[in-house]
Amino acid sequence: MIAAEDRASSRALSRDKAVRSQKPLIRSHPAADPGEGVPVIHRGASLAEEVYEAIFAQLMALKIPPGGRITVDAVAREFNVSQTPIREALGRLEGEGLVVKTHLVGYSAAPQVSRQRFTELYQLRLLLEPDAACKAATAMTDAALQELTEAAGVMSHAGGPDERARYSRFAREDAVFHDKILAVAGNELIRETLAHQHTHFHIFRLMFHSRVTEEALDEHAAILAAFSRHDPDEAGRAMRTHIERSRDRLLPAFD
Ligand SMILES: [Zn+2]
Repeated sequence: MIAAEDRASSRALSRDKAVRSQKPLIRSHPAADPGEGVPVIHRGASLAEEVYEAIFAQLMALKIPPGGRITVDAVAREFNVSQTPIREALGRLEGEGLVVKTHLVGYSAAPQVSRQRFTELYQLRLLLEPDAACKAATAMTDAALQELTEAAGVMSHAGGPDERARYSRFAREDAVFHDKILAVAGNELIRETLAHQHTHFHIFRLMFHSRVTEEALDEHAAILAAFSRHDPDEAGRAMRTHIERSRDRLLPAFD
């Protein structure tokens, strides 16, 4: 059993390290492939990580609906693992705002963002990200551009044949892509502010639809093209267009 303080301090440690080393605030790593039916959990050192990925994919694809109960016993039976890695995974999801823990009730999937909150999140992004893209276009190095291009490439192939896994990988990789741009732009406070909103996790959970991912790939390509030309105005415009279209793709979720 891992003490709560240990988890908190290791989270604080990794956050601190991330800021200093310009590492992504949002982690990108291979997902456990939940397959079409029973999630496959490979036993190993990072069991909690794999349980985390499996539950994350189910949350993103709305297999666990917003507000849906998540009982540790049921997850333990489904994945055939002990309660410890499950509690650890749920603790991490709670930190990301995807799961809420209620005293005497237990865990449930976070409620869907409201239309009001959605509008606010996109207003915040539109204030910060186009400007950050302008700055990033000027500051962009060949190495950073290559990293971003690779991140965009990973997205187009993310997750294998299972659509749920692909969708949840895309949600995470999109968060990483935008975080990397903010890192290049160089304002850590803006970067932390957006990372702490877990915007991408919440917006991707609004709708499980391939259009959400496919159209975004072309828009990311336009942003990358502007970066490769070191064109701040075009980078800012391309980012603004991407965020506005993303908002418009997801708005029908509230109808
Ligand atoms: Zn994006």
